[in-house]
Amino acid sequence: MDTASTGAYDGVRTAPRALATEAVHAGRDDLARQGLHAPPIDLSTTYPSYDSRAEAARIDAFATDGADLAGPPVYARLGNPTVARFETALARLEGTETAVAFASGMAALSAVLLAGPRARGGTPVATGLRHAVAVRPLYGCSDHLLTAGLLGTEVTWTDPDGIAGALRPDTGLVMVESPANPTLAEVDLRAVADACGPVPLLVDNTFATPVLQRPAEQGARLVLHSATKYLGGHGDVLAGVVACDEEFAGRLRQIRFATGGVLHPLAGYLLLRGLSTLPVRVRAASANAAELARRLAADPRVARVRYPRLGGAMVAFEVHDDPHEVISRVRLITPAVSLGSVDTLIQHPASISHRIVDADDRRGAGVTDRLLRLSVGLEDVDDLWADLDRALGAPRERQRAEAPREAVRRTEAGAAR
Ligand code: PLP
Repeated sequence: MDTASTGAYDGVRTAPRALATEAVHAGRDDLARQGLHAPPIDLSTTYPSYDSRAEAARIDAFATDGADLAGPPVYARLGNPTVARFETALARLEGTETAVAFASGMAALSAVLLAGPRARGGTPVATGLRHAVAVRPLYGCSDHLLTAGLLGTEVTWTDPDGIAGALRPDTGLVMVESPANPTLAEVDLRAVADACGPVPLLVDNTFATPVLQRPAEQGARLVLHSATKYLGGHGDVLAGVVACDEEFAGRLRQIRFATGGVLHPLAGYLLLRGLSTLPVRVRAASANAAELARRLAADPRVARVRYPRLGGAMVAFEVHDDPHEVISRVRLITPAVSLGSVDTLIQHPASISHRIVDADDRRGAGVTDRLLRLSVGLEDVDDLWADLDRALGAPRERQRAEAPREAVRRTEAGAAR
């Protein structure tokens, strides 16, 4: 049995099930009883109800604590049964009480910021989050959302060791990504959670997925995914999700209802289907990525390789040559932003995913102008290497002869901040 057996909240189940089993069965427990095999897709935007008094009571209850509506659905912005299946399944995989799905990863993060400070059992504040502490790098738009204060949140940027010192009485959230986009820097989640004390820690687990890392087990109160990436896994769904405790989820559902960033049921269906192959996809793509990281690290055209200690299917590397030329030369690999699909993608973070971050802040976080980010898919590793090899250009000796360049220090493949 996989050691990552899940101990997630479940009112019915008794024996813990392995992650691979949950990936295939969670969110589908009722299907056989209904005489179904594939989950139904409920596209209704509204639902008939002949008892308005009962609806009033249910809506009052939702306004009080945001608990999932008991009984039949009311309106699609309040909740949808197909999306609920995905939420249940993801919570099981992350080992949290519940999860709340959104139209995108950014909608999910926005809802967390709008939810305001939520010390466990504490009184919620009516306004959004006043102060957050965050560690760079984060995905470019997450960095931008915090830095620009678009939702009224002030941010203090620090490194993991500085978190305890950066906390203020009005700090309502600490946010980290690990491995981080795009440098793959890793943080010690347990140590960070300890440093947060009662302040909720949000870990963006998009890159690791619950297959490689379950931040809630290490003290994170909120686990965020751009579900657009590995959870969907096929590049055809835009979605976000926050796995968390029921108390926080209530506030997130209220925000989702008020602001409307809901996930479409068809996307919920595709995500549930994506989860069933998540462990297999992540392991196979990670094996490819580890091999490519090894070959890149041994290649004189490559200045530096970053590959997480944790493993995973992302590789970041710096080239001696012009990174834009490398991007222009790939043929099998797709030059595109995003990640986590069955096919391999490459992009230049300083030009695309992290362009919106101030150049000094970006470089200060290790996102250099020569850095390329590779999201490794499920193709044959030798075919991928053949494409990369061609894209990297002429052998280093010839490059030197043609255009001498300043030597760049080569480092071992491995995590680097
Ligand atoms: N978090 C990470 C680590 C990401 O890479 C992204 C998108 O690339 C997001 C959040 C935002 O997700 P979305 O694009 O689904 O809004």
